Amino acid sequence: MNCLICNGNSRFSFAKEFGFHGLDRVEYWCCDFCGFTLSRTHADLAPSEWERLNLESHSGYFGTESDPGDPRWRTRLRAQADLLDDAASIGLLKPDGRWLDYACGDGKLASLVHDVHGRELLKYDRYLSRDSGYLSDDALEVRRFDLVVTTSVFEHLWQRGQFDAVHALVSDRGTLGIHTLVCETVPRDPAWFYLASVHCAFHTNRSMALLFSQWGYTCSVYGVEAQLWLWFKADPGHIESIVRAANARGGSKPAYVFKRGFVDYWKGSPMRRNPQGDLPGRA
Ligand SMILES: [Zn+2]
Repeated sequence: MNCLICNGNSRFSFAKEFGFHGLDRVEYWCCDFCGFTLSRTHADLAPSEWERLNLESHSGYFGTESDPGDPRWRTRLRAQADLLDDAASIGLLKPDGRWLDYACGDGKLASLVHDVHGRELLKYDRYLSRDSGYLSDDALEVRRFDLVVTTSVFEHLWQRGQFDAVHALVSDRGTLGIHTLVCETVPRDPAWFYLASVHCAFHTNRSMALLFSQWGYTCSVYGVEAQLWLWFKADPGHIESIVRAANARGGSKPAYVFKRGFVDYWKGSPMRRNPQGDLPGRA
């Protein structure tokens, strides 16, 4: 099997026995070159099976105030809304641009961005459209969004075209926002907390840096509290000067980690620190 990200050679890495949500033995394959790891079992599922799995595993907490598998969910969502608002106010994002939350689930981030900050974040979800407030498939026009945010999405994709479709929505001078788990090396451990029944793609700093350059982004920032990357197509010198001024503000305003390239922030072992606490790189 060839790697979705770099086309390198992927080989069997390890397996996990689930025994629920219709999943039994799941096989994870790892790329020799970039370390990107994909569940070949998920990739081989029929579309109807995938949809059933997705609905079964998410329907328990969407529309509620918590996710038992992710205790920081609400706190992080607020931090993400705060970061997007701040990024717009300092000129990292286009304040009056078209902003889209791609695969937004029940739309909590869009609600926070609107209710707390008075900004509009459009919503799209292929599986979980709930009302007329969601964009239709036809409304997903290529290069028409100044900001495309994906939170906890990149770990659910199993075809290269699905990744490319997200990037394709970003306008020529636009920004891509990503929240997912990224690590230096994907643990070959069936007990790893991140091997949820609906997680099929596991990203490394190297695989993300490759996607970043393949798609033509120039620089990025990472918000540690929000656990959110923003990837830019703009002049890196311009972005860097904004970030330098923003980070000098102090106080409760978000701080940004800047890099010309992909911000490879998470270098340590991607394990849960404690059941109620922060989760390094958690998506
Ligand atoms: Zn690869």
